Amino acid sequence: MQNQLINWYLENKRDFPWRENQDPYRIWISEIMLQQTTTEAVIPYYNRFLEKFPNIYTLSQATLDDVYKLWEGLGYYSRARNIHATAQIIMNDFNGVFPTTHKDVLSLKGIGPYTAGAICSIAYHMPLPAVDGNVLRIIARLYDIEENILEKRVNDEVTHIIQGLLDGINPSDFNQALMDLGATICRPKNPKCEICPISNSCIAFQTHKQTVLPIRITKTKKQDIHYVTGIVTYNDYIHIFKTESGLLSNLFQCPQFNVESPFSFIEAYTKEYGVTLHVVSHIKKIKHVFTHRTWYMDVYHFQLDQPVEDLIPINTLDQYAISTAHQKCLKAYHLYK
Ligand code: SF4
Repeated sequence: MQNQLINWYLENKRDFPWRENQDPYRIWISEIMLQQTTTEAVIPYYNRFLEKFPNIYTLSQATLDDVYKLWEGLGYYSRARNIHATAQIIMNDFNGVFPTTHKDVLSLKGIGPYTAGAICSIAYHMPLPAVDGNVLRIIARLYDIEENILEKRVNDEVTHIIQGLLDGINPSDFNQALMDLGATICRPKNPKCEICPISNSCIAFQTHKQTVLPIRITKTKKQDIHYVTGIVTYNDYIHIFKTESGLLSNLFQCPQFNVESPFSFIEAYTKEYGVTLHVVSHIKKIKHVFTHRTWYMDVYHFQLDQPVEDLIPINTLDQYAISTAHQKCLKAYHLYK
């Protein structure tokens, strides 16, 4: 799988100015600029920055205002401050040479595990993982990880998997191949599995879960609730029901459970209604604010394997008084005007 991915990368790699050589200074500047910013937006800033400050020495001689000027419009100015301060640290503590050990790179201001892994693997070919959102998504799909990728435990598991995959291969090419795969093929929405170079190793693709994974749930505040909300269908029918009490009393709603993933939804639904169903795709994240409470709904489409009570024809939905929160969910699935 690693070789298939690397071969694909070598033939299709995106052309970026920071890929012209493996100078750690150039890679460092690019990785900092790419934090929270797209590659397209970064390219002109990067070229201007490197023209003005081609090395650590020239950067260390600049004033903070000079650096800010070149950063103008890129946002997150703490990155510019960290770069400026780090250039002085490298001049004073490392004789003007970009540090060459992982520990020293990690000690620099504004450099966390992802950036240190990226710099050390790309510039020095160290077998170190560089796990960001792209890599979490790809690995969750490849290995069918059904847990929340925002949990530290899952991040650690993915880091461990990547560490194993790096054994005996070129870490610079492998990590950059993952970056390119995540940006161009294994995208968050509509992954292009039909042209993916590693689809034959991907469990999500083989089990049709590529639009369900990864599970990504942000922690909510105490008074907020996270739901997995189901657009549960059976042929041309949909499951909605009226609630007797609570925030939505006397209104129709879609089934939902305060659980972390569509797989836990299936368990809870089967327990409550005694029928089985399967998840088809993730539809949308929806936030609905009540006076004292906010609902964060992860809306998924599920198909029932057999009918359940309370099914109504989909084309009669507009005859029911449906809660606003669930109207939003149905609209997201184009079932409601
Ligand atoms: S087959 Fe699809 S889901 Fe799997 S890694 Fe490739 S693009 Fe991603």
